[in-house]
Amino acid sequence: MATTENFDIPVLIVGGGPVGLAMAVELGWRGIDCVLVEQGDGEVVHPKTNGVNIRTMEFCRRWGIADTIRENGYPRNRARDHIYFTTLTGWEIARQTNPAYDEVSPPRGTLEPFQRCPQTVFDPALQACARSLASVTLRYHTRCVDVEQDETGVTAQLQAANGEGTDETLRCAYVVACEGARSPIRDALGIKLDGTPVLGYATNVLFRSEEFSTIHDKGDGRSYLAMGPDGQWASVNAIDGKELWRFQVRGSLDPESWGKVDVDADLERFAGRKFDYEVLSVLDWIRRQLVADSYQDGRILLAGDCIHQLTPAGSFGMNTGIGDITNLSWKIEAMLQGWGGERLLESYTTERRPIGKRNVDYAAARYARGEKVTPTPHILEDSPAGEKERAEVGRKIMKDVLSPPNFGLQIGYRYDSSPLVCQESEAPPPVERETYTPTTRPGARAPDARLTDGQPVIDLFGRGFVLLRLGDSPPDVGGLQEAAAARALPLEIRDIDDPEITELYERALVLVRPDGHVAWRGDTPPAEPQDVIDRVRGAL
Ligand SMILES: Cc1cc2nc3c(=O)[nH]c(=O)nc-3n(C[C@H](O)[C@H](O)[C@H](O)COP(=O)(O)OP(=O)(O)OC[C@H]3O[C@@H](n4cnc5c(N)ncnc54)[C@H](O)[C@@H]3O)c2cc1C
Repeated sequence: MATTENFDIPVLIVGGGPVGLAMAVELGWRGIDCVLVEQGDGEVVHPKTNGVNIRTMEFCRRWGIADTIRENGYPRNRARDHIYFTTLTGWEIARQTNPAYDEVSPPRGTLEPFQRCPQTVFDPALQACARSLASVTLRYHTRCVDVEQDETGVTAQLQAANGEGTDETLRCAYVVACEGARSPIRDALGIKLDGTPVLGYATNVLFRSEEFSTIHDKGDGRSYLAMGPDGQWASVNAIDGKELWRFQVRGSLDPESWGKVDVDADLERFAGRKFDYEVLSVLDWIRRQLVADSYQDGRILLAGDCIHQLTPAGSFGMNTGIGDITNLSWKIEAMLQGWGGERLLESYTTERRPIGKRNVDYAAARYARGEKVTPTPHILEDSPAGEKERAEVGRKIMKDVLSPPNFGLQIGYRYDSSPLVCQESEAPPPVERETYTPTTRPGARAPDARLTDGQPVIDLFGRGFVLLRLGDSPPDVGGLQEAAAARALPLEIRDIDDPEITELYERALVLVRPDGHVAWRGDTPPAEPQDVIDRVRGAL
């Protein structure tokens, strides 16, 4: 049902981390009025996220910030090797060679490579984009202290978080909680997190050093990883490839060890000598493996770390959250405009929770691979026994620790059991982790390719539903158009007569949702077009 009540604002977003900001940008891009409240000042002091995966880059392109992310992230011409050693100035043990981004071709069915970009660039790019959108209001130093819902809307209590300003009440149709791991709204709703609350206590240190690159012979790397008799105990990631670095002490399961890292001593142990640096910030954090049992309670929807917390291995934290909000934004739009069916919003949990769970479990398994190698004290010896141990450890790292790219997880996820997609009778192919095989099977992300004019095909999607008619004699789709019009569902018809894209899209007709996932496909129009339209809008 379309909203009829007069609200102060249709959508309130609580939390201005990357996921809340992306939600504001997605809603703003759709022209939906929203207010985002963030208790802090919006400045990123310690960049956590860094890996922006293929799917997120595709949405960054939608929002007009992909070039900013590419140009201000990890240098495009710098190698991205993962280099294991005893110390930075000591023996090299293993190396995974990864070419510079300029030399990487994304897999077939995609055009945007994975990109590394620190949160100090990513969040401000989203903030600037949100500010440029007329329907978005960003309010910093504002905390949401209570939300209460009834049949027609949600009443939120806001408080000035910096002691200035007055308390306020806001009436809205929907609230999207993007409050991060410690989510008062999630807890107040009684939504539980399943999984392992602690995989380890870790510490990150952001430091600036021009000398870091000059003191060793290991060459350009993305990750420098130190192995000792206690295993892989620390790493340094290149942030800007020049002078910004992130040191991570892997930590342990002992809560007593948390927050007690001796930064100077550990950096000297890592490098094998003293060097000049300036510590910019220190972050103690907990690795977790948790997924919420529900992503929604009535008119309150949750996204990002509120509902899934995972170890950064594989870069799936924020990226999973961006996947959430791109799934959710069009459903909220449909409800506000009145063409969304009764079951549309509940499909958010049905579709996204399995993806959240899979990513959380994948990250935990990938983290656990690092524990597989347990060197002996010989590893640090300048002796034949030491040489033998380092060679053995190197072999194990190459075999058991280093992971291949995870293209399948980034872009190959499908909403197989969704009530919103028109399932096909044959069993779905297994979901891949490493490789990505383009498909237009309903539930899958529609693959990308360049149209003859150079435009990426997935840039046609987003505003409403798009029905692609492919090939040189596409079927008539008047029935689907009439069925969509009967429900006021926005549907655009696009003809593509390009043999490569016709082959890539596998069918003559492919119906794509606003989030770029396939809802239905066929070589002939459906026998019951109204059923198809009612299914994809969540009315069945
Ligand atoms: C070391 C490390 C490295 C990582 N690397 C990556 C990576 O490479 N790629 C990746 O995808 N992910 C990565 N992650 C995970 C990523 O940082 C998180 O998944 C992401 O920050 C979650 O974003 P969020 O917006 O959901 O939550 P947060 O970033 O936690 O933001 C929540 C915001 O809500 C605000 N807030 C909370 N409650 C209220 C309230 N009641 N009222 C107003 N404001 C409120 C908070 O102040 C905060 O700003 C990494 C994490 C760590 C720790």
